[in-house]
Amino acid sequence: MDNALRLQYLEAMGIDVWLPRASVPSEQPLSFEAAIDNAEAETTATDNWDVLQAEVANCTKCALCATRSQTVFGSGNKQADWMLVGEAPGQHEDEQGLPFVGNAGLLLTEMLRAIGLSREEVFITNILKCRPPNNRDPHADEVESCNDYLQRQQKLIQPKIILAVGRIAAQTLLKTDEPLARLRGKVHTFNNTPVVVVYHPAYLLRSLSEKRKAWQDLTHAIQTIKNNEG
Ligand code: URA
Repeated sequence: MDNALRLQYLEAMGIDVWLPRASVPSEQPLSFEAAIDNAEAETTATDNWDVLQAEVANCTKCALCATRSQTVFGSGNKQADWMLVGEAPGQHEDEQGLPFVGNAGLLLTEMLRAIGLSREEVFITNILKCRPPNNRDPHADEVESCNDYLQRQQKLIQPKIILAVGRIAAQTLLKTDEPLARLRGKVHTFNNTPVVVVYHPAYLLRSLSEKRKAWQDLTHAIQTIKNNEG
C-alpha cells in the first residue's frame, strides 16, 4: 500500500500522523501496523471502561434485570490502590445507581476515613451489579453471570489490595464456603491481587461489639499493602 493511501486510511480512522518530512524518505514504509497498534492500544485503554459500563448497564444475562431499577456498576477511582467488593446493591443502591449509599455505606465511608481514605480514592463495587429482590442472598447463576464484569473491573483497575466486604463477597471471591471468622486475618488472592476479608458494615451495625475486630481487619489490610510494597 502506498504512503498516500496509508495516510488516507489513518485519517479516516481519526488518527493524526505527524511526520518529520525531511527525515522520512518517501520510499521508506511508514510504520502503518505500529500506528494501528498504538491507536488500538489507546482506544482499548480509554474505551474499555465505557464498553464495560455500557455492557453492565444493558445486561440481561440473568433474571435480576427484570426486577432492578438500574444496574450498580461501582464508583470511585478507576486507578485505585484499594478495591472494595461488597455483596450486591440494596434498595438505596438500586434507586441511586451507586454502591454502598445506605446506612451500611455510611459506616463503610467512616471505616475508610478511619484509615485515611476517602470514597473517591478507592473503587467500590459489588459481586452482583443488580439488586436481588428483598435483598436475598445472590443465587449461583447470578454470581456466574456477573463474574466477568468483576474480573474485568479488577484487571482495569489493577488494585494493590482487594477488600472483600462481608461473608458473601469473601466466599464468592475466594470460592470457598469457609466461615468469615476463618477467612479474616489472612491474606488471600484473587487474580494475583491480595485479598483481605473484612466484616460487612451492615453486620457491624447490628453487632457494635465487633467494631474492634473491624478495626483489626483494616489495620491488617494496611499492613498487607505495606508488606507488598517491600
Ligand atoms: N451492601 C452491599 O454489600 N453492597 C452495597 O452496595 C450495599 C449494601
